Amino acid sequence: MRRPTEHKTLLHNLGFPRIGARRELKFAQEAFWKGEATEAALLGTAADLRQQNWQRQAGLDFVPVGDFSLYDQVLDMSFTLGNLPARIQGLEGSELDQYFRVARGRSANDADDNAVHAGEMTKWFDTNYHYIVPEFSAETCFSLNPARLLTQLAEAREQGHNAKPVLIGPITYLLLGKSKDETQPLSLLAQLLPVYAELLDLLAEQGVEWVQIDEPALVTDLSPEWQDAFRTAYAALSDSGVKLLLTTYFGQLGDNLELACSLPVAGLHLDAVNARAEVASVIRQLAADKVLSLGVVNGRNIWKTDLSALLDWLEPVAQQLGKRLWIAPSCSLLHVPVDLSSEQTLDAEFHSWLAFAQQKLDELRVIHSALNHGRDSVVAELAENLAALNSRRTSHRVHNPRVQKAVGAIDAALGERNSPYPQRVAVQREKLKLPLYPTTTIGSFPQTQGIRQNRRAFKRGELDAGEYEIRMKQEIEFSVKQQEALGLDVLVHGEAERNDMVEYFGEQLDGYAFSQFGWVQSYGSRCVKPPILFGDISRPNAMTVEWIKYAQSLTDKPMKGMLTGPVTILNWSFVRDDQPRSLSCQQLALAIRDEVQDLEAAGINIIQIDEAALREGLPLRRSQWNEYLSWAVESFRISANGVSDTTQIHTHMCYSEFNDIIEAIAQMDADVITIETSRSDMELLDVFDAFHYPNEIGPGVYDIHSPNIPSVEQMVKLMRLAAQRIPAERLWVNPDCGLKTRQWSEVIPALQNMVEAARVLRADR
Ligand code: GLN
Ligand code: ZN
Repeated sequence: MRRPTEHKTLLHNLGFPRIGARRELKFAQEAFWKGEATEAALLGTAADLRQQNWQRQAGLDFVPVGDFSLYDQVLDMSFTLGNLPARIQGLEGSELDQYFRVARGRSANDADDNAVHAGEMTKWFDTNYHYIVPEFSAETCFSLNPARLLTQLAEAREQGHNAKPVLIGPITYLLLGKSKDETQPLSLLAQLLPVYAELLDLLAEQGVEWVQIDEPALVTDLSPEWQDAFRTAYAALSDSGVKLLLTTYFGQLGDNLELACSLPVAGLHLDAVNARAEVASVIRQLAADKVLSLGVVNGRNIWKTDLSALLDWLEPVAQQLGKRLWIAPSCSLLHVPVDLSSEQTLDAEFHSWLAFAQQKLDELRVIHSALNHGRDSVVAELAENLAALNSRRTSHRVHNPRVQKAVGAIDAALGERNSPYPQRVAVQREKLKLPLYPTTTIGSFPQTQGIRQNRRAFKRGELDAGEYEIRMKQEIEFSVKQQEALGLDVLVHGEAERNDMVEYFGEQLDGYAFSQFGWVQSYGSRCVKPPILFGDISRPNAMTVEWIKYAQSLTDKPMKGMLTGPVTILNWSFVRDDQPRSLSCQQLALAIRDEVQDLEAAGINIIQIDEAALREGLPLRRSQWNEYLSWAVESFRISANGVSDTTQIHTHMCYSEFNDIIEAIAQMDADVITIETSRSDMELLDVFDAFHYPNEIGPGVYDIHSPNIPSVEQMVKLMRLAAQRIPAERLWVNPDCGLKTRQWSEVIPALQNMVEAARVLRADR
């Protein structure tokens, strides 16, 4: 039998989801924003949630404090550092007013009459969480505003917890920000450090022992200047009265490993899920008086950890490190749902495979006990864990030999079209007979109240499937009529029957499951409930064919079939940890391929496969991009390219950064790609031009995020700019993205103008 380690390993957490098990924070925020609840009510809910969260973490050696946020932790840090955008300085109102002004913007017709645009939002590393980008300029100056953190510190202590304040470190903070002028964020470091030092001193005065200082920038590619900045910063903070736990997560330290180990801090946290391979060399390089915190339970997925296997690896590490070892989740639990015990509809077997935030802490408690008191202290827990893992490993719901065989048979030919684009385009033109500058839309039309009510009634069982189908068909008919009246060239069915572009497909594929309350914060009050990809993927029945066929039956114009691509389905799901992402993606690709072929067989000549999330799957490290792009692009090609030359494949991507992935985009070889461009004056087409991108492009001519109706002149001007870069024969005219969030009263005039713009452009020739 294994002997327990002699020294005590500490257990802590890096952060807990703040939305609440039932999204209490969301409802409190939204009520406050609508003016239906007071500031006191919102703050009360927030305090309750913090209390519950700490309660859930009771018994940990340290609980995080300051991880809670009313909107976003990066915005909180900007406020703590006194870095508010100039546009809100001097405006009236409480600090909370100011905070939400930056978070959400405010239009001039709001009560206070001060129109303020929101801070830019972008993705937090490689997660689906979005933060408010810190803004810098020559005028930027920092000043400490510690009230939020100190209040929460006092609260946690009053409730009997050993509090460990969490801060975003100075280098990550600067790296995440954007300069509004020529100011280099790094040039602000000298000004910034004294504010951090002041804050740490203040925390020391409060008797804080440890501060978690998050520097996930250390798992990204850093230039020598940024690496130096780390040395400067931590040298400057080294004599504060607190101990710093330099916290990294989401990946390997790689070429920053030596740097991370050498900084003058009291401890280092390493993501031992993603960077387990680095643990040995970190131990070698870390000074003997430093704590090593290992993130051993995955904070990014919803699966149970294999506790026995983890202990097999961790026990010798614990022997070696003694009380220098701490354990924690790999990263903040912000990225997983709160509590599995809320789930009432998952079957017992599937339920037993999962762990949400609360259960991940429970797993850590078991590991903690095993390390400190021996595995004997947790025999029952380990046995239960093993049984669950075995059931998942051998379940026929997970493993489908037919799918595995199909994946095994994939070869390069599967992703190849019959002929190269120049030959395809000739036969497609012959068949489709579209005008120059063909007009189309991206897929969805307004998801009206009526549509949503019908779907809700159907889900609740108040509307039977037959009646639901009739009503959705009425919506499709309505949208087809509108498009015909507008004179669009390539029509869509409008996606009335779809709740969400990923969930809709997940619900129809075998290998997917859906939670009731598996919400994860995306930004502010917005949460997503990613479907759970748990098994080999297969498609028992056609998913879209009947709807699209019906839509086509209503018109002589070409009807574009509408699908979500394999990479996007993968990237917006919780995925398996028992096989590589690439393999799950291939399985999805085969399922979508079948759908594409069924659509073709049903007489649909144009098929769009959306890959809205292809870019966001890029790994944090450039050195891993090629590997990702190669299987992602191949998956798209497998899904799309099983059709004859006359079938026109479209893809759509609603973002505007193609510079570093243009080659991959070209390899996808879609006949037509529609992209977001309206806000960039078509400049982003430069990269397509420079690359001699050979296929057709629909550069979005109007921004669907705004209710403004674009004018004919505006759109003509944009398309003329486009035609300076891409030959007119290869240009399409379409909006930036789908129209589901808009009203028909906005869509009709906007599309009228768009169609008119195309007429003007054709007359140019
Ligand atoms: N076809 C989808 C729609 O129009 C595409 C959405 C997206 O790209 N995000 O809604
Ligand atoms: Zn889009």
